[in-house]
Parts: sequence; structure tokens; C-alpha cells
Amino acid sequence: MSVINNKDNEWIEKDRQYLWHHMTPYKEEASPIVAVEGKGSWITDIHGNKYLDAMSGLWCVNVGYGREELAQAAYEQLKNISYFPLSQSHLPAIQLAEKLNEWLEGEYVIFFSNSGSEANETAFKIARQYHMQNGDPSRYKFISRYRAYHGNSMGALAATGQAVRKFNYEPLAPGFIHVSPPDSYRRPEGQTVEQFNLNCALEIEKTIIWEGTDSIAALIMEPVITGGGVLVPEPIYMKKVKEICQKYGVLLIIDEVICGFGRTGKKFGHMHFDIKPDIVTMAKGLTSGYLPLSATAVRRDVYEKFKSSDEFGYFRHVNTFGGNPAACALALKNIEIYEKENLVERAQALGKQLRQELNELLEHPLVGDIRSFGFLLGIELVENKQTKEPATPARIDHIIAECKKKGLIIGKNGATVAGFNNILTLSPPLSSTDYDLAFIVTTIKEVMNKY
Ligand code: PMP
Repeated sequence: MSVINNKDNEWIEKDRQYLWHHMTPYKEEASPIVAVEGKGSWITDIHGNKYLDAMSGLWCVNVGYGREELAQAAYEQLKNISYFPLSQSHLPAIQLAEKLNEWLEGEYVIFFSNSGSEANETAFKIARQYHMQNGDPSRYKFISRYRAYHGNSMGALAATGQAVRKFNYEPLAPGFIHVSPPDSYRRPEGQTVEQFNLNCALEIEKTIIWEGTDSIAALIMEPVITGGGVLVPEPIYMKKVKEICQKYGVLLIIDEVICGFGRTGKKFGHMHFDIKPDIVTMAKGLTSGYLPLSATAVRRDVYEKFKSSDEFGYFRHVNTFGGNPAACALALKNIEIYEKENLVERAQALGKQLRQELNELLEHPLVGDIRSFGFLLGIELVENKQTKEPATPARIDHIIAECKKKGLIIGKNGATVAGFNNILTLSPPLSSTDYDLAFIVTTIKEVMNKY
């Protein structure tokens, strides 16, 4: 650990003065990690401290930090053609669209944007216009689940099911309806996990009927609710959801912003459940966070409806920076890394090992539940195992701070009850080494065992 010098303190002062931090409450004495370097799963801060980033930034740095070939790919592309709008075309966008189609194992057409929120907004507009063009203009509503997060913009936030993120900004876009998430840990007494999951899916059907079967445009869901607390559905839930969408002509939008690109141990999370979504949205792992890029993949049969001769029949949606050539070139190289290093399979293996090694924490008095899916894990902390009262924010923050002192960055998520984020989350780079995994496990156990 290096000595803090005055120059470092100046940066911290300037940070406090000029930078508005995302999603962070104001604190006079805030002392954020000011990152200056990253390699693999580790980052180094301005003082020379090293941290293992077990959240991959915001669930995105899937191939790890410091990959020179990614910087090189962007550099080479910027020299050739730095920008061109996708109302026309360029080679990296064509190549990447083809590659994504291959990864999706289906017939998809790709619309590029910059962020997960924009990818979801794009999906909503496509869904509404699709029904319009299909002679079904009354279908304008969207269903999503409580506790899910789908983005920060007025539509994506409306789809989000976490009240505390929303109430300062309402009214949001109208037409968004929420249903229960399949949170099996907090299911009503007397129901089996299977029954409960089935009931959650049937709630979607009831909602469609009560709202009006000809009023629903689409259902948006992540394969596994991630930011809402790593809520893993039973296969029966997804099977039923698929049947319900088909039965009522509701488009199925799968938000793969976190679950995509190997995080769950398959290329995309929905591939665990034998479903073919109508629309798939993706971001984060697409470039591993090296540059902004997102995509909305639309099944060809949905896209076909936009080949209309009517002058209002095409998709009137543009995104200046969406599909920037350097970002696309970098994404292609990033996908090449997944393939060359078998990172999807590695995520599956690492996830299994992480789960096995942390399972003993289930005996800990504060640990109510551990849930995982691929290399994505949540530890639900409670004050009381009987009542399942969520652990207090002070306790969660203390555990996170103790991990940080030992050089481990972990997340807190969940929006469980009244917005409590009582679930510790882990989403490490898929390229993590065996040493990294051992460090994560040892550090978490050391910290937890102090309680
Ligand atoms: N969908 C999901 C599932 C997400 O987790 C996020 C971001 N955490 C988004 C959408 C929004 O992505 P962005 O922050 O890139 O707009």
C-alpha cells in the first residue's frame, strides 16, 4: 500500500467539487475509489491500493481489465473510419450484427444503441409499432416484474419494478404494469417452490386478462432478476411464461443486459430455458464495458412488419452514436476473446465452484439464502432467519466496507422490502483466475465470520 501524497488528495478534492457520482448519496467526506489502472480482475487506485473487483465494474467487465487487443481494435478502427451513421452502414456494424445473430442461434436483425436503457427503449418502441403495423393498435401496455431493473430513462425506469428508484421522477412513461417476481425464498408459507413459481407465471396470465387481452404489447424480463437480488426462476416458470406470451400474442422481450455474454454459463441467459425471445436486449458484456454499445436484436418475423410501403411504416428511430464503428470493432474482438478463452464454459465452472465454496455460509446466523446462476451469486442477509427481516443497511454497508478494507469490491442489491438492498452480490470477471476465486471466497468468509 503506498503512502497518500498531496497530489492524490488534490484529486480527491477536485472529485468532491466537480464530479456528480452515479446513484450515490452525498457525503461531505466521500472518498471514492479513484481507479487508475486495471489488469484481469484487479484494479489499482490513485493511492496504489489494489482491489479485486468482484462486481466487474457494474456487472460488465466480463473479459477482465487491461486487454490491450481491445484498445488496439478500437484504435485501428478509429484510424480507418471513426464515425458514420447507421442510417447508412459500415463494416464493423455489419460484421457484429452477423456475429450476434450467430451467438443468438436464431434469425435476428440488430439495432445498435449505446446503453442498456436505450436498448430497452428501442425494444418498447419496436413492440408498439409492430402491433400497430400488425393491425393491433390497442396493444400498448408492457408487463414487467417488481424488483427488476431495466434502466434509467422514462420508459425503462417505468418498466423497472423498484419504487425507491422511481418516486422522485414520476410520472414516468405510462402503460407499464408490474407483476410478482419469482422470489422463492420469500414465497408464502405452505407453497412448494414449484407451485409458487407456477403461481407467479399464472399471475401474468391473470394480469393480461384483467388488463384486456388486446391491450398488452410485450412482456419484458431478465432470465434471472439480477439487480433485484439474483432471483432465479424454476424452469416451470419460464415454460409457462413462454406459453402465456404465445397464447395472448404478447411479444417476449428478454433483457440480457447483465445475463448475456456468458454471465450465466451459457451465451445468453434465456438459453437455459428453451425459449426463443421475440426481442433480446444486450449491453454490458457486449464490449465488457471498454466502450459504450448496446443492441436490440429483433426476430426476423417481427422485423418483416417494418418492411412496409406505407410512409409511416418504417422504424422512425435514430441514435447518433449507436453502433459507433470503434465500439463495434471492439465488441467483435471482445467476442473473439470469449470464444478463444472459452469464457462461457469457464463462467459455468467458476460459478459452480464459487457456490460450492460459499455454501457453508448458509449456516451463518445472518445468511438467509444463497442464490446463484452461472457466475452470478447473491447472498441474502437477514436479521432473523425465522422472520426473514432484511439485514439493516448499516450492517450491509459495514460488511461491504470490511471487504473493501481487505481489497475486495462486492455489490449490494435486492430492493427486497421497501427498497432494502440486503443481498450481497458477486459478478466477477469471467476471466478470473483460480487465485482470484480463492481470494473472493477467503475474504468473504473472513469478514462474515467476524459477525
Ligand atoms: N437492464 C438491466 C438488466 C440492467 O442491469 C441495466 C443496468 N444495470 C440496464 C438494463 C440499463 O443499462 P444502462 O445502465 O447501460 O443504461
